[in-house]
Amino acid sequence: MELLAKNRSRDARLGLSLFSLLLLAYIWGSTYYQLLDAKNEAIQTAQKDARNYARTIEEHTIRTLQTADQAALFVSEHYLELGLRFDLPAYMKSGIILGDILNQVSIVDQRGDLVLSNLPMKKTSLSDREHIRVHMETDLGQLFVSKPVLGRISQKWSLQMTRRINNANGSFHGVAVVSVDPFYFSRFYEEINLGKHGTVTMFGEDGIVRARRDGKSAEVGQDVSKGVIFRAALANGSGDMRSTSIVDGKERLFSYRKIRNYPLYIAAAIGMEDALVPYQTRESESLRLSLIASLLILAFSAFVLAMVGRLQRSEQHALAANAAKSTLLHDVELQKNELKASSDRLDTIVQNAADAIITTNDRGDIESFNHSAEIIFACSSESLLGRNMQQLTPTLQAGSWQLLEAGVLGVVEGVRQGGQSFPLEITASKVHVLGQDKFILIARDITERKKVERLQQEFVSTVSHELRTPLTAIRGSLGLVAGGVTGVLPPQAAALVKMAYTNTERLTQLINDLLDVQKLESGFLSLTQEACSLPALIIEARDVNQAFAARLAVSIALHNPPPDVFVNVDAGRFQQVMANLLSNACKYSSPGDSVIIETKLLGPDRVRIAVGDNGPGISEEFRDRIFQKFAQQDASDTKAKGGSGLGLSISKAIVNQMGGEIGYHSTIGEGSSFYVDLPIQAG
Ligand code: ADP
Repeated sequence: MELLAKNRSRDARLGLSLFSLLLLAYIWGSTYYQLLDAKNEAIQTAQKDARNYARTIEEHTIRTLQTADQAALFVSEHYLELGLRFDLPAYMKSGIILGDILNQVSIVDQRGDLVLSNLPMKKTSLSDREHIRVHMETDLGQLFVSKPVLGRISQKWSLQMTRRINNANGSFHGVAVVSVDPFYFSRFYEEINLGKHGTVTMFGEDGIVRARRDGKSAEVGQDVSKGVIFRAALANGSGDMRSTSIVDGKERLFSYRKIRNYPLYIAAAIGMEDALVPYQTRESESLRLSLIASLLILAFSAFVLAMVGRLQRSEQHALAANAAKSTLLHDVELQKNELKASSDRLDTIVQNAADAIITTNDRGDIESFNHSAEIIFACSSESLLGRNMQQLTPTLQAGSWQLLEAGVLGVVEGVRQGGQSFPLEITASKVHVLGQDKFILIARDITERKKVERLQQEFVSTVSHELRTPLTAIRGSLGLVAGGVTGVLPPQAAALVKMAYTNTERLTQLINDLLDVQKLESGFLSLTQEACSLPALIIEARDVNQAFAARLAVSIALHNPPPDVFVNVDAGRFQQVMANLLSNACKYSSPGDSVIIETKLLGPDRVRIAVGDNGPGISEEFRDRIFQKFAQQDASDTKAKGGSGLGLSISKAIVNQMGGEIGYHSTIGEGSSFYVDLPIQAG
């Protein structure tokens, strides 16, 4: 999906870029061709101008030459008529001939000597000059235009235009010479607007420049016979061409023409730079417009691309958000299913549990319950819902729900529908759900268990009593027999009777212990506590157990005189505890050892009575179990030491019931010290 969007946006961008490029190419292509057209048009216009100028110049030149020719013809006729009497200066002054374009008008006689002139002169031979000699040698029948020459008399550049003067028979009579100022032409050329780099050149078939306008230079007499213009003019007569000057490196548009009826040529040229001036204005205008259009297109494309990019990003974001949303929804669905499965599992467990499981609010109002709850309380589900636990467990104090903490609430009285009460063992868990305290109560009907326990206790007590009565009789009888009341027994019989007597003692002890345990467990061990003097209790304990110790060759001694305090105890049960601790200490001592009773104050209101021995000590793994019923470190102890493993558990129950604590310290191989801490009776 995201890939699709990406591709789409890439295509859009590619398309837009291509479109922009095409548009730019079109703009610049059309600009280029338009400018090319404009350039060609400008060149063609300039070329046409050059051609027109050339034509104009040709006309002007022809007229000038005709003027000069006419002057030559006039003076020729006058010379033929008047000879040396011809007053040429006066003739010229008369204005018949246009003197402003003519430097000098003169006559050369048939020997080639200058004989007449409108300017002051002296007779000079000019027969060596080409423009004279050509007429002396041949009759051209037309005006001869010389190369520019520096006049010997006038010291001015001039074009000598000469015409042969013939006698009536056609023989050579002289030459009429009309000197034309080449700068006359130059001045005319300058008047023509050929632009800054325009040139005009008049040259003869000999390749010599007769007149020119070439920028600043108006020099004449140069040889251009090697130039391309000259060659083209000689070959074609008239035409156009482009040429680049080797002098100034400028390209020009030339138009050349042969001057009608004269061996002269005119070449007019317009500088390419000048020709292109109108084009350049247009060029810069077009380029500026194209540039503006391009920038606009680029800016527009950039803007559109940015928009496409933004669009793509937002599309991607939307897609990503959609994907995340559907993943989330999928996850939620999965979790919902899992939750439902686990809730179903839990519901099955709860519904099928043997115990009643009830949830209440913090006031004890029932919010939910399982099937067992209905059975235990003999209620229909309708009557259970919304009831308060108080109605089901009246002994749980009203208003105690807010104070109810998690844990075992113990055995309380449950009331079934109909008012029948029964023992209920109940456990509570406090949970915090959606800002509210809730209770989960697990309740078990222990009617049956109680019944069994009672039966058990009855059995034990019956059996114990039933056993104790005959045992007392057996023990008494055996005691009498062993004591020799019935006569002296043979040694073997005496030993057997003694063994039987000892065993009845052990059996009596065991039955007593069992009865105590049963009483303790059923809560029927009643103590008669009263303030007793500690020293008296301790001394009695030492003395009473001394005989037992003596049989094991162990002595019992007081470590220190007991502090003179009173303790609130059942004296008989206290002595039972002391007897148990002392007998254990003696049993686990080696013959000859002493068992020490140490008493010390633990503070102003507590006293410790410790019984220490140097026996084997209590092993590490046995320490946790030592106060449990029937717990013995070594299974052989029953036989070897004659115990049942009940003494310490009974002692602990008695001490605890008297508000004291029992404990011990022991080091393997060094001995043990069992202690009883009791509260001191005040006053
Ligand atoms: P028992 O009648 O077997 O002595 P007790 O409950 O008095 O029963 O003691 C439990 C066990 O604790 C004993 O069997 C013995 O293994 C161990 N025990 C008790 N006192 C001592 C002691 N002073 N030194 C070593 N072991 C002892």
